[in-house]
Amino acid sequence: MAYGEFKRGVVSNERDVLFVNIDFGFGMGILIGDLTCYAKSGFSGEFGQIPFFQNERICHCGKRGCLGTETLDLALLEAVKARIKLGSSSVLSVRHTDVHQLRLEEIIKAARQEDSLVAKLLSDIGDKLRKSIAMLINMFNPELVIFGGKVFETGDFTWLPIRNALNKFALGLANNDTQLQLSLLGARARVMGGCLIARGQVIFGCN
Ligand SMILES: [Zn+2]
Repeated sequence: MAYGEFKRGVVSNERDVLFVNIDFGFGMGILIGDLTCYAKSGFSGEFGQIPFFQNERICHCGKRGCLGTETLDLALLEAVKARIKLGSSSVLSVRHTDVHQLRLEEIIKAARQEDSLVAKLLSDIGDKLRKSIAMLINMFNPELVIFGGKVFETGDFTWLPIRNALNKFALGLANNDTQLQLSLLGARARVMGGCLIARGQVIFGCN
């Protein structure tokens, strides 16, 4: 997915780029000096597995407290359900008598309609991500960080807390050279990247 975004997405001439994607999983693609970083076993960029939270939530990796446990699509879905059960008002509580039937697509649609509950919970995810993104900038000093995934396709709710916090949490010497942008390709980056890698291997014997 990151490869598609690097080659056919928002990247133009930048050579040091991070692509942070949050959906049903939480991963990161790394481009350093215009080279895609796969590392020894191909698992570099498992950023969502950093034990960032002191919680008891079991991550799909089997461990507790990973960054993804409070920021993935599933975490948003569960948070919306929990808040509606507690009585929070939302267009979703009006539409659904059975909160268990709520689907993520409906939540994203409600966000685009600026539903206050969903907007607040998306903003909370941005708050939970902001220190981790600052940490990435301090570690990699990237020229560009791209954000992809449904939570970033809903307007500025998740995006703004991250952008506004970087001056506070990231090292100025690194942060001053870093641009933040949203993914251009969205979910199409996955297919695009796969096709480009396959083409490179078949035609050129590389990617
Ligand atoms: Zn994990």
